Amino acid sequence: METNWSEQFPNVFPEWPVRISFNVSPGWHDLVYTLCAKLEQHARRLHGHAPAFKVVQVKQKLGGLRFYGMYQSSAMQKLIDEAEKRSFTICEACGKPGKLRVVGKHGYRTTLCAEHFEQAKIDGPRKTIWGE
Ligand SMILES: [Zn+2]
Repeated sequence: METNWSEQFPNVFPEWPVRISFNVSPGWHDLVYTLCAKLEQHARRLHGHAPAFKVVQVKQKLGGLRFYGMYQSSAMQKLIDEAEKRSFTICEACGKPGKLRVVGKHGYRTTLCAEHFEQAKIDGPRKTIWGE
């Protein structure tokens, strides 16, 4: 089932989808969902007391999750940092335990389990992770 991120977390994605670039690897769905649930609680509590938090970009870079927001509190930034660090232990394709791998002659970095690492060597990381 598709997650409706802005409906689930209106204080995290107030401008969805207008100004957001949002690409979460399928295996990281639960990681990002859990992060957003925690951020939503913080943002709701801070609402009206500080500039409103918002996500501006979520993507994979150099094998890890990058979660960029604006106006996050230090507690929220800590949650983001923890999730980004954890992403290096979770397969981008399936969500099972994984580790940082280097695939192909261009040295593409991606976090994969052993099984998907083998598949990525044959099919390439994009097809392995996104099935396309
Ligand atoms: Zn996997």
